[in-house]
Amino acid sequence: MTSAHTHTHTHGGQLIILGGGIAALTTAFYASEPDHEQVFPGGIHVYEMTDVLGGKGASRRGSPDHAVQNRIEEHGLHVWFGSYDNAFALLAGCQDYLNREQRKGYKRWGTAMRDISQGFRPCSRVAAMDFEGGAWLPWVADFPEDSSERPWDPRRENEDFASPAMLVARALRLAESFLYSITGRASASDLAHATLLDPAILPIPMRVPNTAPLSAVLGRALAASTSSVGSVTLMSQLLRVLAFASTQVRARFDEPVREHAGLRRGWQLVDLLLAAVRGLIDDGVVSTGKIALIDGIDLRGWLVLHGASEESVSCGLLKALVYDLAFAYQDGDPDKPSCSAASGVYGLFRLLLTYRGAVMWKMNAGMGEIVFAPIYEALLRRGVHFHFGQEVKIIQLEASGERPRVKEITFAKRPVQGREGKQPLPTVTVEDGPLAGELPHWGSEPPAEWKAAEGKLDRLRIGGHDMIVYGLPVGTIAGIVQHPPESWQRCARELKTTSTAAVQLWLNVPVIRYAPWASPDITVGAYTEPFDTWADMAVLSGETLAGASHVPPESVAYFTNVAPSGFDSSKPAEKASLDAWVGRFLDKGLGGLWPTYDTGFVIDKYVRFNCDATSRYTLSLPGTLAARLSPDDASIRNLRPAGDWTRNIINAGCIEAAVISGMMAARALRPDRELRIVGE
Ligand SMILES: Cc1cc2nc3c(=O)[nH]c(=O)nc-3n(C[C@H](O)[C@H](O)[C@H](O)COP(=O)(O)OP(=O)(O)OC[C@H]3O[C@@H](n4cnc5c(N)ncnc54)[C@H](O)[C@@H]3O)c2cc1C
Repeated sequence: MTSAHTHTHTHGGQLIILGGGIAALTTAFYASEPDHEQVFPGGIHVYEMTDVLGGKGASRRGSPDHAVQNRIEEHGLHVWFGSYDNAFALLAGCQDYLNREQRKGYKRWGTAMRDISQGFRPCSRVAAMDFEGGAWLPWVADFPEDSSERPWDPRRENEDFASPAMLVARALRLAESFLYSITGRASASDLAHATLLDPAILPIPMRVPNTAPLSAVLGRALAASTSSVGSVTLMSQLLRVLAFASTQVRARFDEPVREHAGLRRGWQLVDLLLAAVRGLIDDGVVSTGKIALIDGIDLRGWLVLHGASEESVSCGLLKALVYDLAFAYQDGDPDKPSCSAASGVYGLFRLLLTYRGAVMWKMNAGMGEIVFAPIYEALLRRGVHFHFGQEVKIIQLEASGERPRVKEITFAKRPVQGREGKQPLPTVTVEDGPLAGELPHWGSEPPAEWKAAEGKLDRLRIGGHDMIVYGLPVGTIAGIVQHPPESWQRCARELKTTSTAAVQLWLNVPVIRYAPWASPDITVGAYTEPFDTWADMAVLSGETLAGASHVPPESVAYFTNVAPSGFDSSKPAEKASLDAWVGRFLDKGLGGLWPTYDTGFVIDKYVRFNCDATSRYTLSLPGTLAARLSPDDASIRNLRPAGDWTRNIINAGCIEAAVISGMMAARALRPDRELRIVGE
C-alpha cells in the first residue's frame, strides 16, 4: 500500500486523533507507518470517550451471569460486503504487520486469529420479504460465489472496476443475463460469455439489430478492466437494444411473469437495472464520472423518472439492500424512506457488481475481536498512545490568518481500568472452529454510573505544530466545535442521522425449526416493522461461546432497524417504552418471518438502542452530498475530519466509507507516503 519516498514530510508536533471509531483508527494505522516519529515527534495520541474502540462498530462480551456465557454483544448487526476492498486491505495489512513483528520476537495477544481468512466466512444467501396476497413471501437469492477470489487480495494496479462507465457496462451484462433467464432457456451463468441477444439463446420472434460487434467491444473492455470500457454511445446503443428486447420479452411472457413470483422478481431486477443505466447515461454521470450530479433526488423517484415501474421500485430486494441495510428512513420513520440516488445507486452497484469471493462476509466472532482488537494491538506495538475515558467537550478555535486554528481542547476524564500502557486485552477461550484458541476481547459494558459520571475537566493546549483529526460522529460537531467556519456549520446542519435498535436472540433450536424456508447464515431484509432486517449467525452459537451455558444455543438471530426518534434510552421511562416496543415484536410480530416459532425457543436476549448523538447512524439524504466535508478539508488550519459522514467516494454510513475517509485523512497528513485508495 505504501512506498518509500526520498524525503519525510514533518509536522514537528503531535498527531491528536479524536475518537476511536474505524475512521479514526484507519488514520492512526496509516499515519503511524514507518518514520512516524520523525513526522510527529510528539507522538500519535488517540482520545476515546468510552473504554473500547470501535464506536458504532464496537462489540463486547456479556457478563458471566447471563444464560449464555461470554455472549457477544454488538452495537448492531455488522456484515461486510465483498466489495469492501479498502476495509479488508486494512485488516489484512494489520495481520501482516503483527505476524512480521512476531517473527522478530514480539509475543502476540492470544493465539486464535493470525490471518484475516480466519475472521470471515462467505455468505451468499440473501432474502427479501415481499407481502403478496395477504402473506409474507421470501425471495431467496443465491449470489454466485468464486472461491478463487477474496476481497482482501490486492487488485491489479490501475484496474478500473468502479468507475460509473465500468459499473454501467457490468450492469448491462447483468440485465442481459436476467433477461435471458426469464425465458427459462439459459441460466445467468450460462450466459456469461453469450453474445447479446443471440436469437439462438433467446428464441422469441423479434426484430433486433445485430449487436454482436457492440457486445464484443463491451466484453473485451470488461475482461481487460481498463478505463476504456466503452463510449457513452456504445453503452446507449446497448441499452436501447436491451430495453427493446425487454419490452418484447415482457410482452411475450407477461402471463408467466404475472403468475410466477420468481419470474416477476427477475423481471423487476431487469427493469431496475435498465432504469439505473439509463439514468446514469442520461444524467451525464457516465460521461463526466460525477455521481454527485444525481444527488438531489431520492433513489426510487430517480429510477421511476428513468423508466422503472412503480412495482419494481417497491420490490423487496431494493428495500432490503438499500433502504433497510442503510437505515434510510428520515427521522427513523419507516414511512419516510429517503436515500440519495447518488449514494444509493453507487452503493448498490458496488455491492452487486464489484464483489470478490462472495457478496457478503460475516465475522466468526464480534467486530470487537475480529476488527478492533488486532488494530489496537498493532497500533500499541507501533507506539501509538491511547487515552480511554476522555470525552471531548469543547474545541476552541482562534483566528490565524485567513483560516482559524484549534487552540485548545477540553476533555472530561473518567478513570478506565485495564487499558493502561500497553496492557493486552483479556482473552476468551474458543473451543473449536476457525478461531479455536485464545481470542482477545473488550470485556463487559461498564456500569451505568460510570457512563453518567461528569468526569474531571482537563484542558489540552494545542502547539503550533500539532495536527488534529476529528474522528467523532457528525452529530457532535454543533455541540463541540466553537464558532466553526461556514463549511463545518453547513455539514453539521444538513447531514442527518437516525437512531437505531438492535436485538440478538440465542435460541435452543436450529434456524429451520422456526423458519423452515430459511437456512443457517441467511440474511433477510424488507420484513415488517419494527424489525425489518434479520441475519442468522449460526456459527456464533457453537464456535465462539465458551463456558457452560445453561442450555447450549443452536442458533443466534440478529435483528436491526431504525428506532423512533425523540426517545432517549438513557431515561428509564423512555427505555421502558422502547423495551415494550421490542417485546410486542418478539411476542406477536415474528409469525410472517418465522412461521413455526415458539417464544420458548429463546434462551437469552440482548437489546440495545443507539439514540444519542455519538451512536446515531449517518444518513445519506438527497441533496446532502455537497454539505459533506472532505477529509483533506483545511478550513480549520490544523484539523482534518474523518468519518463515514465525510465526502469519501461511497458517501454512505458503512465501514468501507469510514475506512476510505480515514485513509484520505492519513494521506492529507502524510503527503510523504503514497497511499492507494482502491476504487478512486
Ligand atoms: C446498528 C448499526 C448497524 C450497522 N451495520 C453495518 C453493517 O452491517 N455494515 C457496515 O459496513 N456498516 C454498518 N454500520 C455502519 C458502521 O458501523 C459505521 O459507518 C462506522 O462504524 C462509522 O465509523 P466512524 O469511525 O465514522 O464513526 P464511529 O464509529 O461513530 O466512531 C466515533 C468514535 O468517537 C467516539 N466519540 C464520540 N463522541 C466523542 C467525544 N465527545 N469524545 C471522545 N470520543 C467520542 C465514539 O465513542 C466512537 O468510538 C452500522 C451502524 C449501526 C449504527
